[in-house]
Amino acid sequence: MEIFPTLYKNEKLKKTVALDILSAAASHAYIFEGPRGSGKHTAAYLCAASLLCENRGKAERLPCGVCPSCKKVLSGECTDVIVLGRDGAATIGVDAVRRSVKESLWFAPNEMEYKIYIIEDADKMTAQAQNALLIPLEEAPSFAVFFLLCRDSLAILETVRSRAPIIRMEIFSNDATAEYLMRSRSIDAPAARTAAASSNGCIGQALEYLGDADGQDAKRRDAVSAVVRELCVGNAVSRIKAFESFPDSRAETAEWLGLVKTALRDLLCDKKSNDAEMFFYSDVNEAHAVSSKVSVRRLCELWDALSGAEEDISANASVRSVLLLLCTR
Ligand SMILES: [Zn+2]
Repeated sequence: MEIFPTLYKNEKLKKTVALDILSAAASHAYIFEGPRGSGKHTAAYLCAASLLCENRGKAERLPCGVCPSCKKVLSGECTDVIVLGRDGAATIGVDAVRRSVKESLWFAPNEMEYKIYIIEDADKMTAQAQNALLIPLEEAPSFAVFFLLCRDSLAILETVRSRAPIIRMEIFSNDATAEYLMRSRSIDAPAARTAAASSNGCIGQALEYLGDADGQDAKRRDAVSAVVRELCVGNAVSRIKAFESFPDSRAETAEWLGLVKTALRDLLCDKKSNDAEMFFYSDVNEAHAVSSKVSVRRLCELWDALSGAEEDISANASVRSVLLLLCTR
């Protein structure tokens, strides 16, 4: 039987969760952890469709993808699949959990066998919101199944984490990502390799890069590349200039700084090995040009400074002040 055919690799997830589903022994909750674009949503919807599939255990595929239930779930039209997200806010508060989960939990599913809650950015729930979720997780009726999606499961309270197996999404090598793009998406080899190099090991980010009509990703890569170069070999003035192309929004800046760290990681690996796999640089010569001019010690200092900046940004410090401080490091 082909399990979760539209989810690339992730054999561990397929074995554990899909077998739970097939043997009607699904846990009340699962935590899917991984970066943006690593397949958490795809996995959660495939699990939901599998739980509700009318041909579960009888078809060649799980979910079958063709029965009315599968079609409804996979097109996002099933009223028994309830999605709770941030809706643009920084966090998910207790009111949203009460409204989306607590008020509906004890009512039987509208049309299906199970009621499925998908909580996006579960690591962005406030502590109060997470506490409000505890009783639903502990005492949920047998028809309720929760999927908590997050980038960092350590940001989820231990009391919540202990109630759900944590499944980490697989991060792929550039070769594996490029192979997927060529084979399953019919992308030609050069484009697949460039997209893979921009993907941070996540298929979703590679697809985002390919679908990026106005070249935003390419602009972001260029800006990040310039910042990394200036942090390594420039001075405070040239760094301030390079950071000018960074966005003002907190969430975007956090993401761009994540890319800066990925590039620093590439440079460190490049200094240690001649054939290290690159996650940020698609052109290894570009990485060599910078890494040959910077010491391992400096790269480690920068890594620490970047980690501090990320913490400050998530703690609501002014984005521009944090970037300015980085220029002086
Ligand atoms: Zn089906």
